Amino acid sequence: MEKFVIVVYGGAGPDSNFIRENEKKILEGLEEAVQAGYKILKDHGKAIDAVEAAVRSLEDNPLFNAGRGSALTARSEVEMCASIMDGKTLNSGAAAIVRNVKNPVSLAKSIMNNTHYIFLGDGGALEYAEKINIELKPVSYFITNHRYDEFEKARIEESQHVRDVALHEISQKQHSTVGAVALDMDGNVAAATSSGGTPNAKPGRIGDSSMIGAGTYADNRTCAVSGTGDGEYLIRQVIAHAISENIRYTKAGIAEAAQEVIKKQNTDIKGDIGVIGVDHKGEIALEFNSERMLRAWKKGHHQTVAKIY
Ligand code: ASP
Repeated sequence: MEKFVIVVYGGAGPDSNFIRENEKKILEGLEEAVQAGYKILKDHGKAIDAVEAAVRSLEDNPLFNAGRGSALTARSEVEMCASIMDGKTLNSGAAAIVRNVKNPVSLAKSIMNNTHYIFLGDGGALEYAEKINIELKPVSYFITNHRYDEFEKARIEESQHVRDVALHEISQKQHSTVGAVALDMDGNVAAATSSGGTPNAKPGRIGDSSMIGAGTYADNRTCAVSGTGDGEYLIRQVIAHAISENIRYTKAGIAEAAQEVIKKQNTDIKGDIGVIGVDHKGEIALEFNSERMLRAWKKGHHQTVAKIY
């Protein structure tokens, strides 16, 4: 049997009432995303198309912090970001401060395929999205009750000075950014990540999810990685690329490399970090330093496994 694999996540961070109350629906949402990627891979489709399909499914699901259900900035606006990378060619695309675009991951993929740029942001990203006729939605589509409550809570805490803006305190955020990695039958890997960012963040803040190297990286010679958690840490440690480089230089397996980068090299990190990875052999990694990571995977035609804790 030819090898193919799809792995997805819906964020890593502290446990919450929201997760406990929605456990069943969250697991179903993760399984649907796996299924969307699997459908492409089983018909000899490309890893890059499988990660896009899986991430689109999670972006459309209001339970996750990407696309519909994105976090709100301090201006109570939605500013999304996404990135995608093809391990065969190292081609990549990214978009930040994206408004109105239903599926930011597809915007990132179009930037990769149809422009000579890698990264577009803000008004320019929207202008490009309009030009290529990508599906747009009104602001009300993106804002769910849960994210509004989360934003209100963060805003009140901040105004009461209950919470300092120091990085170690940011770890209480309910990360539920989404991502996917895949290996296709031709031995190519790909990664994609999409996020609404962190609640009540300064407008214009850009997290790791749109950054090639930090939140997303893919190279057939090593692996494909997508990361979630406190973006400022993932950016500083260039986490996804660090895992790839660890494999390149030490010849470690993907799980070992992810553990090394997250749990050994970065023990002083007080924030949440979670990653998923796959290598050209179909070995996978699901590593996190937090209470939970919403995750699911499927190897070949085997049954999907979905877990929260
Ligand atoms: N990494 C994302 C960011 O910092 C948040 C998350 O993973 O939920 O924007």
